[in-house]
Amino acid sequence: LLRATGIHKSFGEREVLRGVDIDLATHEVVALIGASGSGKSTLLRCLNLLEPIDDGQIFLDDEDISDPRIDANRVRARFGAVFQSYNLFPHLTVLDNVTLASRVVHRTPRREAEARALELLGRIGLADLAREHPDRLSGGQQQRAAIVRAIATDPEVLFLDEITSALDPELVGEVLELVRQLAADGATILMATHEMAFARDVAHRVVFLDAGTIVEQGPPADVLAAPREPRTREFLARFT
Ligand code: ATP
Ligand code: MG
Repeated sequence: LLRATGIHKSFGEREVLRGVDIDLATHEVVALIGASGSGKSTLLRCLNLLEPIDDGQIFLDDEDISDPRIDANRVRARFGAVFQSYNLFPHLTVLDNVTLASRVVHRTPRREAEARALELLGRIGLADLAREHPDRLSGGQQQRAAIVRAIATDPEVLFLDEITSALDPELVGEVLELVRQLAADGATILMATHEMAFARDVAHRVVFLDAGTIVEQGPPADVLAAPREPRTREFLARFT
């Protein structure tokens, strides 16, 4: 579904991605792990077309979406993304947050968009808070609403960047549970995460990024439980 080859990205003198090849199949859940500063967020932002790349190519199906002539907004409308924090617009109600992209980008009539949003919010127990502003919700509720907003337009790929790392520990579980459900429902997900137990349980494949290159990847049982590369072992040792 998504395939990137030879991705290079520098910020000034600093080369953050040094030739990354990564692919994502439909219904696949891939966990991107690596130390702080290894380039996980940058890679997600590049694949998402939120950040221009210096070299390489990105294909969505067979279309080269890294071609500067393509309409990036049209491509981004096929993606959903959730970040660490500040995902919801504070001045809009939860319901307006969730329906915004459907109404504006996909031109879904308000009534239809709201019915779908309320159904999705209902599934995670947030229908009663739909007319509230985000500051009335807990961090975990806000992140779940942000995930619902990201999936409200039925994206083909969902990018999740450390969506639980700004949360109080007791709120992490409810957010991961929602991701687990989406994965079980067949969503295609690329997520950067420090939650190794979650990666082990939910991801089909784990990709270890170190200093802007992919050092090792494979099923969680291999990469997390029996890593081959010394750098992977060293990284994972910090989590035990
Ligand atoms: P973390 O686990 O802390 O989220 P990460 O793996 O997501 O780390 P990135 O955020 O991709 O790492 O950052 C990789 C490097 O790129 C860092 O050294 C960072 O300072 C640098 N960087 C990222 N974004 C920018 C930017 N917009 N301008 C300049 N440097 C940047
Ligand atoms: Mg990051």
